[in-house]
Amino acid sequence: MIDLKSEMDLLKRSSSFRYLRDYEPLGPVKGIIDGRPVINFSSNDYLGFSHHPLVKQAAKDAVERYGTGGTSSRLLSGNFSGYRELEEELAELKGAEAALVFSSGYMTNIGVLSSISSREDIILADRLSHASLIDSSLLSRARFFRYRHLDRDHLEVELKKSSGYRRRVIATDSIFSMDGDSAPLKELSELAKKYDAVLVVDDAHGTGVLAPKGDGSSSLFDTSGIDFQIGTLSKALGSVGGFVAGKKESIELLTNKARTLIYNTALPPSAIAAAIASVKLLRVEPFWQKRLKDKVAYVRQKLVSNGFSLSNDPTPIIPILLKDNEKTNRVSRALLERGFLAPAIRPPSVPEGTSRIRITISAHHTHKQLDDFVRALSDSVNNDLDQTTVRK
Ligand code: PMP
Repeated sequence: MIDLKSEMDLLKRSSSFRYLRDYEPLGPVKGIIDGRPVINFSSNDYLGFSHHPLVKQAAKDAVERYGTGGTSSRLLSGNFSGYRELEEELAELKGAEAALVFSSGYMTNIGVLSSISSREDIILADRLSHASLIDSSLLSRARFFRYRHLDRDHLEVELKKSSGYRRRVIATDSIFSMDGDSAPLKELSELAKKYDAVLVVDDAHGTGVLAPKGDGSSSLFDTSGIDFQIGTLSKALGSVGGFVAGKKESIELLTNKARTLIYNTALPPSAIAAAIASVKLLRVEPFWQKRLKDKVAYVRQKLVSNGFSLSNDPTPIIPILLKDNEKTNRVSRALLERGFLAPAIRPPSVPEGTSRIRITISAHHTHKQLDDFVRALSDSVNNDLDQTTVRK
């Protein structure tokens, strides 16, 4: 018999046990936990679009007109007419010929990697790529190699060795979800060109976020060298779903081969309508990315002046590395006591010995909320140090 209890005990003993906690959202950054108000530092709704009046109205209208369900696969009757408009908007946003929407970012990665690679191929992925890229690589049955984080030289060594494969696929996040640092996309696209490899970039945390236009990686460099630009509708776009943008023929191939498109129920019309409204908002309210960027710069400067060391990437994902699981849990609990939701991120979400408080910044955080949070974080970390010393 499978000994589930001892597996759970092991998780508990290593302070890695996870449980679901009720959260009642009251707006882009405010919510209720256990009957008490909290300021949320863990949402990916970077621009607060899931609470934007125009986005909410679009979803409400769609429910009234079309009902609540996705009803069937897109290849049957689930292909609500709004999909076409959304995919045209997303292709334009990403400067691509076409786009294809899936039911989530996770499903998009699974659909893409398992459609373009199989046993005769190799996938080379950054070691810290998102779990959905790792899982989809494993599911594809291709040989799977993880190069050292951000290390284009390590990738090139392996590319040189792998000429015997039918297809070589390089896969990476653009902004890494747990570290907030950025992949060297220009160098990766040069390598892809040099070795005739396919480049897949998961821009889940860049889409809608990166200034000046919110178009994601394309704000940083010419993305024409990226074959598959993946994104999600569930973070800055305030809805739910995922998408891939690329060449028309690639999108047609995915429509025929991606099992997570073919065998998965379509998204409900309300999710599509909300996403369309959000993508349009990126154009008509172009100030959101700048607002977010300013808040990120503000909180980073406060954190640094309080003695926290941060990476050089000014993205809205900021990890506060505490390393030890239990200490990270304690600091997270202390923050919650003071009204801040900043969860402890532990293995396997991050490598052993790199547990952290991972905060995400919203364009809606006020300067006062950011000041209060940094003070609470400093106090919690310092008090924890004191207690650890006393206990020794
Ligand atoms: N890729 C990355 C880099 C992510 O951070 C996430 C979400 N955590 C996903 C993909 C999955 O997206 P979704 O939540 O839409 O499934």
